[in-house]
Amino acid sequence: MATTTAQLNRSYSRLFIGGSWVEPEGDRHIQVVNPYTEEPVGTVPSGDSRDVERAVAAAKAAFPAWAQTPLEERLALLSKVGELMAAQSGEIAAVICAELGMPLRLCELIQVGLPTTTFRSMAQVAPQVAWEEQVGNSLVLREPAGVVAAITPWNYPLHQIAAKVAPALAAGCTVVLKPSGVAPLNAFVLAELIEQAGLPKGVFNLVSGGGREVGEALAAHPDVDMVSFTGSTAVGRRVSELAAATVKRVAMELGGKSANVILDDADLGKAVPDGVAKCFLNSGQTCSALTRMLVPRKLLGEVEELAVQAAATYRLGDPFDPQTRMGPVVSADQRQIVRSYIEKGVAEGAKLLCGGAEQPEDQPHGFFVKPTVFSAVAPGMTIAQEEIFGPVLAIIPYDSEEEAVEIANGTIYGLAGGVGSGDVERAKAVARRLRTGQVEINGGAFNPLAPFGGYKQSGNGRELGRHGVEEFTELKALQL
Ligand code: NAP
Repeated sequence: MATTTAQLNRSYSRLFIGGSWVEPEGDRHIQVVNPYTEEPVGTVPSGDSRDVERAVAAAKAAFPAWAQTPLEERLALLSKVGELMAAQSGEIAAVICAELGMPLRLCELIQVGLPTTTFRSMAQVAPQVAWEEQVGNSLVLREPAGVVAAITPWNYPLHQIAAKVAPALAAGCTVVLKPSGVAPLNAFVLAELIEQAGLPKGVFNLVSGGGREVGEALAAHPDVDMVSFTGSTAVGRRVSELAAATVKRVAMELGGKSANVILDDADLGKAVPDGVAKCFLNSGQTCSALTRMLVPRKLLGEVEELAVQAAATYRLGDPFDPQTRMGPVVSADQRQIVRSYIEKGVAEGAKLLCGGAEQPEDQPHGFFVKPTVFSAVAPGMTIAQEEIFGPVLAIIPYDSEEEAVEIANGTIYGLAGGVGSGDVERAKAVARRLRTGQVEINGGAFNPLAPFGGYKQSGNGRELGRHGVEEFTELKALQL
């Protein structure tokens, strides 16, 4: 079996502030752990509020010139970052594979493919923004929002960073990035690429460190004009509270508990395995994962059989092994959270079809969770309401289309969803009734140019494409 994880080790001792790699004020660091080997895979500095001060000052100083740099020049630099990322995709994928545990092939395709597309897409989408618009006697201008604090999670780490940094810079904002402490190595690779691409000093700054310290200092800082946050709903609330003191603009990409509504005329042979895949991708650590499969009660037996068959195809193992379809979850803590949810599902009376809370017999090490499918889940059960962030699917039976819509909309979240039907118009009609930011019809592919974001407690605002650039702008009306 190919095992190459042990060879990868990256250590960074400096932060990227004002266009230079600088020593952090303190001497603490964060150790990054490979979730498969359970061994260290690198370190990054654990910055503090003094580093935040320096980074915000650098971003503030760089803002006027960057905001006035012609759009085409900004976009050319961002395209260059995209090209550099594409050229190093194999190496970056290996870094993310080692710190996150997602299979290497998928890292290359998704974890590096998406951010590369995002950086490259700016040249296409930013010119589509109505930067100037005549409204009666007014000239309405879109101007950059200012200094942006970007706070990001670990599950699609570089994608989530790119979804903020690329459009913010395209819009003319300057950025201070605080990446997740769980998978921060890719952020340092990005800073190297940005330096190589020749972006002006201070336009992009990187301060790694704890959420409570660096994240809170950024959210509260009076010179930060906007916070763009991706992460859990609980932390999103805290960041919003801190940002409110200085009435900052806040963009929130938060958690989800998305429903996949399979209608009675769907092709189950396709819809069920596809639904399982949309739940299990990245070991279930996907904010838009379709974690609730809603199925007509009369088809429940057939769906259960197909779901178990699909789950059995998930081969666990070393993420660097090309045969591996599912890696471990990101950390021992995350595994414990997921296991507790599985135990709760059993305790609340859901029917465990496959998987379970124990370590898989064939994986003596690594933070693995067995691909787990529950059926006969009632809409009010904990596993049907709370975000688990692991490979755990809840199959929920329904008796009418009306009830399916009610169940789908019956959580605090509204990030994504799916509808499966033999009749696309029928599926679209149901999709329109879902209170959620995205809905895939019959497994429709993720579109990196379409707006992404949530209703309800899944967040505020949209990322990606033209709408993602507009997010980082303010409107000004000149009355003529
Ligand atoms: P998290 O715990 O909320 O952390 C997200 C980021 O916030 C990290 O950089 C974290 O720093 C930082 N942070 C933690 N406490 C903070 C505080 N008090 N003030 C400011 N920042 C703070 O989320 P996660 O576990 O990394 O990511 C998983 C969550 O993200 C899931 O809920 C998932 O649904 C959500 N997510 C949403 C989307 C979307 O687009 N809607 C996309 C991906 C993920 P540390 O690393 O130091 O903790």
